[in-house]
Amino acid sequence: MNEMIPQSVSPDLTKQIEIMNLDTFLNSDPQKIIDIIQQYTEQPDHGIKKLRELSYAVAMEAIDKHETAEVQKELLTQIQTKIDKLIIDWLEEILKEMDLAGKIHADIEERQRNLSVLKIIRGFRCNYNCRFCLEQNSDEEQKQYLDEFASYNYSLEKLKFAMLYAKMAFQIKEINFSGGDPLVNNPKQLIEEIKIAKQIGFEKITILTNGALLTTDLIDAYCEAGLTNLSISLHTSNKENYDYLVMAKDKKSHYEHVVKMLKYASGKQGLLVRINSAKTKHFTEPIAELIQWAKKLGVQEITINEMIMANQFSIEEHEPINNEIAGYDKISEQHWGLSLFKSPNSDDPSVAICRFGKEDFASEQSKDLYLLPNGKLSQYLFEKGPGISY
Ligand code: SF4
Repeated sequence: MNEMIPQSVSPDLTKQIEIMNLDTFLNSDPQKIIDIIQQYTEQPDHGIKKLRELSYAVAMEAIDKHETAEVQKELLTQIQTKIDKLIIDWLEEILKEMDLAGKIHADIEERQRNLSVLKIIRGFRCNYNCRFCLEQNSDEEQKQYLDEFASYNYSLEKLKFAMLYAKMAFQIKEINFSGGDPLVNNPKQLIEEIKIAKQIGFEKITILTNGALLTTDLIDAYCEAGLTNLSISLHTSNKENYDYLVMAKDKKSHYEHVVKMLKYASGKQGLLVRINSAKTKHFTEPIAELIQWAKKLGVQEITINEMIMANQFSIEEHEPINNEIAGYDKISEQHWGLSLFKSPNSDDPSVAICRFGKEDFASEQSKDLYLLPNGKLSQYLFEKGPGISY
């Protein structure tokens, strides 16, 4: 695949671009435009920016000849549409060649689905065995699937094209690295993955982790690479209850280490740190106490999740969460069970309550696009099929 993306733009091509005018551009063979895109896409963001500059430059001559603003605008729109469509078609070709997607629907209507997050699943393996984890409720077939996808096998190059496609075809601005636990498999390579996400222009880059494998060096490196959000699962401030809930596979307690990492990350400039908490009936303190504890650690956001009743433990421990928090104002509410709260005191963390299990939750999930551990893009986390399907 590398030979498809030459390291520099050839003088011949530069000449072709220089002599291209609006008519030849709009009427040219798509392959010719694709060749140009390929030459300019050594670095995706740079390539697209360059291509847009090129198209506008090509348009200048023709636009100068048209006096009305409407005609000029129409010409620019035509060019923009053509370029974006060509980039997406080209990316789809590459994704197919790289076996990233067996089936991609290219029509505009499908693309307009409101996908908002690209979730990179860095393998389903985890160092914890939480009592409420969905994996605990897996049937044999699903267990086999999770085992098969314990590690990821996509290359950085595949990852780059999946990210570029998500951004260009769906205008996705947010990327989330998770698992399993995303730090179990090759945490150092994650630095490169974050760098690529930043280079491509994702505005929000999040790691969702249980935090046990974080180190201060890794946090520093992730931030330097472009991490904007760190979400750490920590269900209670009580060490014994935490250890009981997460059942670390090495039988050790990681509670103190995780709290230390939370505090360290909360002190990093430009990084937004969130605690992610599964609310249980007997092992989690009242929400007000959890919020106060999170505030003392310097955490800016806290999400409290009502447990999905997926196994015996989560049925017994399920506790409906009130849709209000004393001293906080509700600032938004989604029909499927997510409410956001803010305190008038700006030092207090903001709070999200996820009251899962509402009837539309599943359809809301479809706003995610997943890069699965086998390197396929899919709208479904547990899809066994060949790629994207709608
Ligand atoms: S940390 Fe997450 S993935 Fe790992 S066992 Fe717990 S809930 Fe499951």
